Parts: sequence; C-alpha cells; structure tokens
Amino acid sequence: MDQLNNFLSPPAAPRDFGFFVDGKWQSGHDFFVRHSPGHGVAVTRTAKCSVDDLNAAVAAARRAFEDRRWSGLPGGSRASVLLRVAEILRTRRDELAYWETLENGKPIAQARGEIDHCIACFEVGAGAARLLHGDSFNSLGDGLFGMVLREPIGVVGLITPWNFPFLILCERVPFILASGCTMVVKPSEVTSATTLILAEVLAEAGLPDGVYNVITGSGRTIGQAMSEHPDIDMLSFTGSTAVGRSCVHAAADSNFKKLGLELGGKNPIIVFADSDLEDAADGAAFGISFNTGQCCVSSSRLIVERSVAREFEALLAEKMKRIRVGDPLDETTQVGAITTEAQNTTILDYIAKGKTEGAELVTGGTAIDLGRGQYIAPTLFSGVSREMAIARDEIFGPVLCSMTFDTVEQAVELANDTVYGLAASVWTKNIDKALTVTRRVRAGRFWVNTMMAGGPEMPLGGFKQSGWGREAGMYGVEEYTQVKSVHVEIGKRTHWIS
Ligand code: NDP
Repeated sequence: MDQLNNFLSPPAAPRDFGFFVDGKWQSGHDFFVRHSPGHGVAVTRTAKCSVDDLNAAVAAARRAFEDRRWSGLPGGSRASVLLRVAEILRTRRDELAYWETLENGKPIAQARGEIDHCIACFEVGAGAARLLHGDSFNSLGDGLFGMVLREPIGVVGLITPWNFPFLILCERVPFILASGCTMVVKPSEVTSATTLILAEVLAEAGLPDGVYNVITGSGRTIGQAMSEHPDIDMLSFTGSTAVGRSCVHAAADSNFKKLGLELGGKNPIIVFADSDLEDAADGAAFGISFNTGQCCVSSSRLIVERSVAREFEALLAEKMKRIRVGDPLDETTQVGAITTEAQNTTILDYIAKGKTEGAELVTGGTAIDLGRGQYIAPTLFSGVSREMAIARDEIFGPVLCSMTFDTVEQAVELANDTVYGLAASVWTKNIDKALTVTRRVRAGRFWVNTMMAGGPEMPLGGFKQSGWGREAGMYGVEEYTQVKSVHVEIGKRTHWIS
C-alpha cells in the first residue's frame, strides 16, 4: 500500500529505459522524452533505435527460432513460463498500471483493471500452449495416413499502438509465445514503458534469450523497416487503416510476410424501443467514453429507434454529463486525458466539423481546462446524417453521433453503411431482433445487451477494412502457425514403373 501511495503523483524525474535485444539491455544514443498527457511533465526517456538495432533484434529472434530453444520445448514447458509471467505480473500490477497511466493518460483504476486482463491473457496463453494441436486423416484408405501439423510461423514482428499499450501487447504476446514463435516488438514511441518492463518480467520467468526483443523508436523509421524486413515471417500490426494499408504494400514488395491487421472501426450501437433504455444508455455512455473513446471498438454511431430517440438521447446526455473526467492519477477518475496532442487536435477538429455540418450538439463539445494536460468532455451529436464526416470517419475520441431508424431492415442497413467492420452491439429484449441483427451486421465482435465485455478466450479482429486475421484464444494462437500436410505410406508401395 505504501508503494501504491508513492505512485499517485508524477515522478520527480523521467525514468530511463534502454532497449532489449537477445536477452540484454542496450543503451540508446538518441532519446525520446515522453510528457504525461494528463500533467504535461516529462515521465519517461526511451531510445530512438536505428534500423541497425532493428536488424540485430531480428537476427537474434531468427537465431532463437532456428535453434529451437523455445519452439522445441514441450507445450507444457512453454505453459509453465507463461504461468510464471502471470504470477510476476500480479506482483508488479501497481507499478505497470502507474507507468501505463503516466504515458497514456488513462485513469489509474482502469489501468489496474487492464493489467488484470493482461494476467488472464498469459493464463489463457498457457492453456493454449498445451492445447495447440493439428489434425489427422484416417480416411485416406488402408495404404495412406494423413496428418496435419501446426508449426510456428517463425519470427514475428509486433507493432502496437498507444491507446492500450500493455493490453494490446498482452492480447498477442502470450499467444505468439504459445505457438513457439520468436518476436521483435515495436511499441508506439509515446507509450513504450510497459512493453519494456514486460521484457524484464519474461526474462525473470525463464523465457530464453532472443525470444522476445523490443526495439523502440518511431513508426515512420522502425515500423516501416519492420514491415519491409525480409527476415520477418509475420507482422501483427494494430493501428490506423492508412498505416495498415502501407504494411500490405510493404509486405507485397518484400517477402510476402503474413499479416495480422487490427485497424480502425466506426462501430454501431443499435438501440430498439423495447430495450431496457436505462441499461442501453449506460452502455452507450461507457462505449463512447471508455479510454476517452480512443478505442478501436468504441461504439461511435448510435442507431436508435425513432419512437424513443428523443427520450433516449436525453437519458444518455444526462449520464454523459455525470462522467468524472479528471486527473488520471485520481482514483475516482473515469475518463482521463487525450493521449497525444495530435489526437486532441483531431478530435476537436471533428467536433467543429460536426457543428458546421449541421448536427445538433446535445452535450459536451468542448475541451476541459484542468490547468494542465489535455481533456475533452464526452460529446453527443443528434440529428446526424450518414454523409457527415462525423458519421463516417473514425474520430477516435469521446464523440458519439446519433441517427434514427424505423425498421430492423433500416437499422441493419445503416449499421453496415461503413467501410469498417470491427465491432457492434444491439440492445433489445426481443430475441428475434437480437439474433437477426447479430447475424446480419458485418462485424468481428458483437455484444447483445452489453458493451465491450469478454475475455482473452474469445477471438478479436475485424471484417472489411478493419483488418485481417484474429488475435487471442485458440484462434489467435493458430494465426501464428502454418499448417503442414504430411502423407505417410503404410506397407509396400504400388510401383509406378512396372
Ligand atoms: P498509427 O497507425 O500511425 O500508429 C499505430 C502504430 O503504428 C504505432 O506503433 C506507430 O508508431 C506505428 N506506425 C506509424 N507509422 C508506421 C509505418 N509507416 N509503418 C509501420 N508502423 C507505423 O496511428 P496514429 O498514432 O497516427 O493514430 C491515427 C489514427 O489511427 C487514430 O486517430 C485512430 O483513428 C487510428 N488508430 C487506431 C488504433 C486501433 O486500435 N485500431 C490504434 C491507434 C490509432 P509511432 O506511434 O511510434 O509512430
């Protein structure tokens, strides 16, 4: 508890981090200083690595993969390491949450909850390491037996964003490790601390050198070089659709590396008149405000049945006004700071655009001045039409657009009117409507009468331009494997040459 109390103000001086290659800490020559978005003070200093540093990390991951120091172990031994990681994370929960909050601006209580989710990811990953298996074909006749082996794909590059630096990392790393792959990770330059701390944790848990390497630096240099790298077998990228597209081009122009992409979303929340409107309003307020709306699965398009639209918007606005926006280190804060200055500007620009496009501002719509840091009030626009930029673009902020429908058909059509397909939710007490909408809306994650619920057992990923592949659970582990068909002749061969 003492330790926790010490953590509730920003550090007196920024914490220095090296980068991690082949089981060893390296020091940088040039540094990036991160200022806490909630307080505006310097909190961490990380290395700006070079492409040579990246090449050394990829070479270390390649050696570790080829000599089978990790993939050659029984699944049970890999599982033991992952379970030890979960145990160590439990003991370092407050420390990890503190650095996550300082760099990202999210509320400390939320950050702790996220670390708990990360611990569960390692536990599920441990189970997956033991359960990963192939298939067999006993149906090829007496002379032939078929086996399907799952083999690790090789060296994985992992590029993660700044909105959930540790959570997105941990929804991938245990599953990559469960498969037997080795990896090089590049966190977003603005939120590298917890990815680096994980290197310490993994080493302490007994992960062999070279299996997990971290290179820090900007996306434009290190990220781009990773997507072009000829010796990375698979790249898992989470971030904007624009950069996801550039990864596709880079993969095609280099070695056709496999890609896992989790990209943007413009996720619908469909509210029927027969739903529990109090529950739905709470879900909608949470869905757009959680993590300041900087969340790929934020429910940013409210599609509400016309007969209750006014009543529902009033209920929702009243709840949104009561959300506690404040200092991320305050235990009672529900919504913290906007993570980057660029993102803050983007969100405020979209709010201005919504006003000039003619949408009706119901609540919010302004920056909040807390004396330091950057904050935006949860915002609701009503009377939004589908052509407006605020209805089409991923804003990645606490800005909700309300549109209306009269029939199930219209609700589905409006929900699908987007290039994205990451997540969706439906609120109704009518099972027929719930299942019809669930089946027909094109989205990789779906919630019925709930919002952003789930665990690492369930796969994550998107339809359409929200990405390729799935992360987490058994589906996630399988993404990091290749399938090999093995044919075994039984008995004497029937000769081709008689
Ligand atoms: P980016 O897509 O630029 O950043 C995501 C990650 O990709 C970061 O690690 C970044 O590194 C890295 N990156 C940047 N450029 C390249 C590149 N050319 N090649 C490979 N990796 C690269 O997102 P932004 O930070 O610019 O945010 C812009 C928008 O993207 C947001 O407004 C939001 O709409 C969307 N977004 C979606 C996320 C999601 O979870 N789906 C997460 C983050 C953003 P670095 O930060 O060090 O430059």
